[in-house]
Amino acid sequence: MALTPERIYGDLLDIYRKVDAGERLSYEDGVRLYETPNLTAVGQMANIVRERRHGARTYFVRNQHINYTNICNKFCKFCSFYAKKGGPAPYQMSIETVRERLEWHREANLTEIHMVGGINPRLPYQYYLDLVRVVKETLPGVHVKAFTAVEIVEIARQGKVTVEQALADLIEAGLDSLPGGGIEILSDRVHAELFGKKLNGEEWKNVARAASKLGLKQYATMLYGHIETHEERVHHLVQLRELQDETQNFLTMTPLCFHPEATELEHIAKPTGDTDLRNIAVSRLMLDNFEHIKSFWIMNTVPVTQMALWYGADDADGTVHEYEITYREGEFGNKSQALTRDNMIKMIEEVHRIPVERDSLYNEIVRDEAVKPSRTLKPIQLIG
Ligand code: SF4
Repeated sequence: MALTPERIYGDLLDIYRKVDAGERLSYEDGVRLYETPNLTAVGQMANIVRERRHGARTYFVRNQHINYTNICNKFCKFCSFYAKKGGPAPYQMSIETVRERLEWHREANLTEIHMVGGINPRLPYQYYLDLVRVVKETLPGVHVKAFTAVEIVEIARQGKVTVEQALADLIEAGLDSLPGGGIEILSDRVHAELFGKKLNGEEWKNVARAASKLGLKQYATMLYGHIETHEERVHHLVQLRELQDETQNFLTMTPLCFHPEATELEHIAKPTGDTDLRNIAVSRLMLDNFEHIKSFWIMNTVPVTQMALWYGADDADGTVHEYEITYREGEFGNKSQALTRDNMIKMIEEVHRIPVERDSLYNEIVRDEAVKPSRTLKPIQLIG
């Protein structure tokens, strides 16, 4: 029996026709992609878009995360990271501690330092500038990706300056880009219920617009798997798409899966593999103006990330030395987690994709120890 588009896509055939023609999907299409039981069809469509843009190429970066404090006055219900009674002990890294931590991984030839933290109202403006400077002093040439929009608003408040001025000062100190995060999902309802003390959607967009005006590249995320509905996810994606139409400033979108452990939402079941893969795939299909969709292996596991590379993702994030937001243990609440460069290559090659080491702006990095795929791999196109 022939494997025709009619058989594969069934009642999603009209959406497949749009994908095949490179047409923009509507809000209603997005909701149907979340509601259909036919995940295979959704993944196949996302893979068509992924391979059209990147073939089998799969990007990764050598990076280190520094979460400089877990003291926070925002009390988001989905967060297990901030210090609280019966939870993680409070910590605040001095600039010297940050310098030492950067030294720990000097030999790993990292190209990106990713820094975010809680909102600690006792930290002065100068601390944030020094935080960026110490990275540039210790590892010259490294890319500094730091501070969500929530932190940027706090930094501006501390300095009694506008958001634009705070961004300009941070750029002068060495800031190269803004990570995603800070808004979680662009929904007034979810904002009020889960993270009402943080900035709202319009404020988040205004930080994004200010960054764009200053030429500061940025990334986007979506936290899924808590109390949001399918409609709210699609609404989030459509708003990101509109903002990207306006600014052309986002490099990548990363769907982030919610981990309920040790949060106020512990009663909610963890997202399933279907939910993880579907969010990757629908993001790829809806965000026709985003070049890259990332699967963050540390949040959704290595096996799911391997599958995600066939469901729309073209980026597997990085070696990630130390990540403290989701898992905690030991000094500064830290449980060090990392994949080596060879681990990353193996993870990608095992699922027949081609590993490409990149910098933070997606320029390919070629070194003496450059990525050499162990065999020639070609994208597999299941449907002509
Ligand atoms: Fe604070 Fe960020 Fe956690 Fe919210 S998510 S409580 S802002 S550290």
